[in-house]
Amino acid sequence: MLRLKNINTYYGKVHALKNVSLHLGEGEIVTLIGANGAGKTTILNTISGVTPAGSGEVLFRKEPVTALTPDKIVKYGISQVPEGRQVFKPLSVEDNLELGAYLRYRNREDRTVIRRDMAQVFTLFPRLEERRRQLAGTMSGGEQQMLAIGRALMANPRLLLLDEPSMGLAPMVVQEIFRVLERLRRENGVTILLVEQNAKAALKLADRGYVLETGKIILEGASAELLENAEVKRAYLGKD
Ligand code: ATP
Repeated sequence: MLRLKNINTYYGKVHALKNVSLHLGEGEIVTLIGANGAGKTTILNTISGVTPAGSGEVLFRKEPVTALTPDKIVKYGISQVPEGRQVFKPLSVEDNLELGAYLRYRNREDRTVIRRDMAQVFTLFPRLEERRRQLAGTMSGGEQQMLAIGRALMANPRLLLLDEPSMGLAPMVVQEIFRVLERLRRENGVTILLVEQNAKAALKLADRGYVLETGKIILEGASAELLENAEVKRAYLGKD
């Protein structure tokens, strides 16, 4: 459903992505792993139109979306959960969720659909419903991550891009969030591209993975293979 073909992305003279090609099938969970600065966030931002590619092509459901603006890309069905959550801290949980759906307001019927989607987010994350009137900035890191995911879901995406959702969270909370990602794929057929520092947890969740080093994909494979790969073990999985 998503294909990147020979993508090159630059920040001025910095050549951040070098001929990156990758693909995701419908309903797959795929993870990108790599050290700090390898280009993982840049891949997500290139897909979402935040940092457009200098050359190459991004195809979503066979249509080119390479040169589209981020709002158009959201309308196509691609939604991003940014690194560091970036929820609107002075706003309530409910208002944050409403903002996630703002591109969808056209008429009164839309509101009904949006209410239904919010109820669905509350089913996935009951804690958000309990705290619907709480200001986002006063919530814990885990709750803010749940809210950031909930807000992205309010755009009704077919493809969800997640940037380091586990960052700074306790293992139990990470497990809870990963269980929701699995459920989203199983029950809603959402396709997921997951960037993670926590390679072990990410590979356990994902079907496949790509390993990125200084802007290039150096390895790809089924998660089970990557978990057994000596190079991956040495560089990214640590000792156990
Ligand atoms: P991290 O895990 O630290 O977020 P990453 O793998 O997501 O790392 P990117 O953030 O994609 O890596 O960065 C890839 C490269 O592009 C790095 O060398 C980084 O310094 C550079 N880079 C990223 N953003 C900018 C920017 N706005 N201006 C200039 N260079 C940038």
